Amino acid sequence: MNSSLEQLVNLSKLDTQIDSYNPKIEAINAKLEAKKGSINALVEKKHEIQNSITRLEALISDTNRQIAEQGEKMKKISARSSSLKKEKEIEATQTEETLGKEQLESLNEDIERNEKAVEIKKADLKELDEKINEANTELKELENETASSLKEIEDSKKELYKQKDALLAKINQKVLEFYEKIRKWAKNTAVVPMKKQACYGCFMRVNDKTFSEVVHSESITTCPHCGRILYSEINEGEIITEPVVAKKTTAKKTTTKTTTKKTTKKTADESVEE
Ligand SMILES: [Zn+2]
Repeated sequence: MNSSLEQLVNLSKLDTQIDSYNPKIEAINAKLEAKKGSINALVEKKHEIQNSITRLEALISDTNRQIAEQGEKMKKISARSSSLKKEKEIEATQTEETLGKEQLESLNEDIERNEKAVEIKKADLKELDEKINEANTELKELENETASSLKEIEDSKKELYKQKDALLAKINQKVLEFYEKIRKWAKNTAVVPMKKQACYGCFMRVNDKTFSEVVHSESITTCPHCGRILYSEINEGEIITEPVVAKKTTAKKTTTKTTTKKTTKKTADESVEE
């Protein structure tokens, strides 16, 4: 194989290998992000509960203030009632006292209800804290696990980059530019094999001239349909030594003949289809 072509085939294989790690890295990062996301959701819920506890406690404190006020009012009423003589005034004061007591009861009920709510919310908070701790532990474990996988990937990538650098130092600059230009759109299929006279990038059949050029691989040949760089998977040695072998052994010649026949037949078939 032409040395530049051979270098491009190797370079393309290295680039493909390097890129193959990206989905793995993305999958690991996605897993970590998902875990962090679930922890954030729990923390947000915790803040919501804390806020409602604060609101309830402020409510309780306000009710306590109202109870104190009500107590003062009741004291005044009872002080006043002892000095009253007129029946009507006594009755009115008694009604006031009864109403005041009812109000106190209602305020005390409010406190009891709100205190119970605080208790429930504090229990929820405790449960949530446990969940957050658990999730944080899981995250740490995941980070440890993935750190080693990421390290392995990094090491493998480093090794591949080393090989790539060595290759880039040898490769012809023009050839490299040509490859990079194709790689821009073809990504990891910039250099593809030709199999059964078809380009393995666009899967179109190449003409006999291109086929022959690719098989002999004396220069860099591109697919006439898509422009990808083609290389032959047929062992170059077989082709170059073919005439020599053919002279020496008839068996090999027969094989070669059969192959040629098949190709010719296929060409005929395909031209019919066209
Ligand atoms: Zn093609």
